[in-house]
Amino acid sequence: MPRYELQRKGDSTLPAMFHVVSPNSADFPDLRKHNNCMANALTPAIYAKLRDRVTPNNWTLDQCIQTGVDNPGHPFIKTVGMVAGDEESYEVFAEIFDPVIKDRHNGYDPRTMKHPTDLDASKISSGMFDERYVLSSRVRTGRSIRGLSLPPACSRAERREVEKVVIQALSGLKGDLTGRYYSLSEMTDLEQQRLIDEHFLFDKPVSPLLTAAGMARDWPDARGIWHNNDKNFLIWVNEEDHTRIISMEKGGNMKRVFERFCRGLKQVEHLIQERGWEFMWNERLGYVLTCPSNLGTGLRAGVHVRLPKLSKDPRFSKILENLRLQKRGTGGVDTAAVGDVFDISNNDRLGRSEVELVQMVIDGVNYLIECEKRLEKGQDIKIPNPLPQFRK
Ligand code: ADP
Ligand code: MG
Repeated sequence: MPRYELQRKGDSTLPAMFHVVSPNSADFPDLRKHNNCMANALTPAIYAKLRDRVTPNNWTLDQCIQTGVDNPGHPFIKTVGMVAGDEESYEVFAEIFDPVIKDRHNGYDPRTMKHPTDLDASKISSGMFDERYVLSSRVRTGRSIRGLSLPPACSRAERREVEKVVIQALSGLKGDLTGRYYSLSEMTDLEQQRLIDEHFLFDKPVSPLLTAAGMARDWPDARGIWHNNDKNFLIWVNEEDHTRIISMEKGGNMKRVFERFCRGLKQVEHLIQERGWEFMWNERLGYVLTCPSNLGTGLRAGVHVRLPKLSKDPRFSKILENLRLQKRGTGGVDTAAVGDVFDISNNDRLGRSEVELVQMVIDGVNYLIECEKRLEKGQDIKIPNPLPQFRK
């Protein structure tokens, strides 16, 4: 990582109207009722130290933490409570990002540890689920374009630049990956709703986690979805990240979904590089994304799976926790489950490679299905031993 000259708001070089009028401590947010990683880690001392720093793009600590101040907690998952405005945020505000990353990623130390990448899908075993239970399979990640601010901070021009760079690159995809871009501003409400209902498109920016972080500014300007003709390789542009790259299909063939994901992702990266751009990445944090929860692989491999019996068993949560799996509703992160179908995916993103995470999801979901079958027959189930989050 390059080193940055830290500018301070109080510097005499800045005009007087930017001078800080109150002492740091008078601005410390009231976090007493909060439960998110940022609120748990932010102390008055850290706040005072970082409050007047800005990144080269003029992004501040208060802007990083605003979403966590405005959203004390989340009903289904423990949130992170802060976002980055640019790649440099993770360095300039390391004193708060590091403990948050460590907390969210179960002890991963971003100062001393190195993150592995492995996109060789041939290493995956038993990647075919029982389709009486698994309805659909999906793998997604995010990638950010180096040199442009991230969605909480970007200007309209930067957002449009991201869109331009990405769709020009994607026009180079060939064969089964050939497709086209659909701009949100040009789509009818009906078309948009259909894509959302089919689970292809991100939801409208209703989540307060998104709006409080500033990611819904100027909606729907420069947002859109690119997808191939088969609608099984998709790229979201300018939602929570510059790009979200998704491979998905109906049924339980997770290995095939992951193969297409790896192949498509490598081609997209190559096409972006050909045009002189690159993804934000470093060896400690892996791929750099807006939310610290997505650092590393940025990977969420998940299935929509029917678990009517297991989901009502009091041991369900503990089993998921020990298998390092997360549950969501099938309408996305902000929804509750309907009709016994859950979105089950890996909880971790950092410290393990893509191959390891997908294999953990495959083994974990197979275990859940095994439990469901045992419960159907009136047999007992066991809570598995906890898996470690990363290789030490
Ligand atoms: P992400 O982690 O990709 O942001 P969200 O929870 O916000 O995921 O959901 C985004 C959309 O993807 C939603 O419409 C959701 O229903 C859909 N989705 C997620 N996982 C699956 C899956 N395994 N099968 C089908 N659709 C899915
Ligand atoms: Mg989302």
